[in-house]
Amino acid sequence: MKPTLAGYARASTIAEATAWLAEADGDAKVIAGGQSLMAAINMGLGGDTRLIDINGIEALKGIRLEGDRLVIGALTRHAELGRHPLIAEHAPLLTRAVPLIAHEAIRTRGTIGGSLSHADPAAELPACVLALDALIRISGPGGEREVAADDFFEDVYVTDLAQDEIVTAISLPLAAAKEAQLIRELSRRAGDFALAGIALVRRPSGHRVAFFGTGPRPMLGRSVMAALDAGDLAAALAAVPEDIDPQSDPHASAAYRRHLASVLLRRCLEDLAA
Ligand SMILES: Cc1cc2nc3c(=O)[nH]c(=O)nc-3n(C[C@H](O)[C@H](O)[C@H](O)COP(=O)(O)OP(=O)(O)OC[C@H]3O[C@@H](n4cnc5c(N)ncnc54)[C@H](O)[C@@H]3O)c2cc1C
Repeated sequence: MKPTLAGYARASTIAEATAWLAEADGDAKVIAGGQSLMAAINMGLGGDTRLIDINGIEALKGIRLEGDRLVIGALTRHAELGRHPLIAEHAPLLTRAVPLIAHEAIRTRGTIGGSLSHADPAAELPACVLALDALIRISGPGGEREVAADDFFEDVYVTDLAQDEIVTAISLPLAAAKEAQLIRELSRRAGDFALAGIALVRRPSGHRVAFFGTGPRPMLGRSVMAALDAGDLAAALAAVPEDIDPQSDPHASAAYRRHLASVLLRRCLEDLAA
């Protein structure tokens, strides 16, 4: 039996959505693509949830350049992200990540704002925005703020968002000339969440490496990054276990995930060398 919902409302502005969230005092949830939220509600995890649909808010849509930043609206679907020329030119990591996410039907509805807010530790886009050093734009009744991706993801499905706030956009630095952006993961079947994965960016200013599926949240590989910046590839590979915190579950043991993370980093380094 499907659970019933306590209500549904379609917001047409950001202010309307956040005012309704504040009014609901924790009893309402924003719905974007619905690809994670509806599954949770159908499993009975939503309680007596009221849904606030943000799909009609024009200000959350679109991909554009703002000075030296690329800005991606929170309602951008995974599929649009994967085929957009500005993304391919300025943040090719996201273009490469999209085909790894779920299946085409899910990519057609799922949004980047939903993926970041849901904060599944094995999801690709949270790790990508961390590797790209993105800022997450957030709106609430108190106004707007920007949070570094590194401070946004806190724990399994937990972010820095307050219950009356929504993600409005993601702002990224533009890829520099000759910048390398790579993603690698291993999943049991195409479309499954990754058992472990890595997003790696090599900029003139240094490396940024984010691991996913190997801890409670996407994690920056700080020791790995320092070793790569020093040009010591062996030290970078040896540092992987320091930077991640994998758990065992029915899909894979922590030891196997640790091994996979090292193998995936080695393959990325081989790609960079090639
Ligand atoms: C079978 C299956 C396989 C999948 N495989 C993968 C995979 O391999 N990799 C992967 O990354 N994902 C995967 N997903 C998840 C998919 O990518 C989702 O689309 C995504 O995680 C959530 O996006 P959404 O727009 O559908 O969010 P929704 O389901 O609408 O919302 C998810 C959560 O985020 C909140 N939310 C949504 N938008 C906002 C916003 N703008 N501001 C604040 N809160 C917001 C909602 O309240 C809810 O709590 C899979 C999903 C399914 C069903």
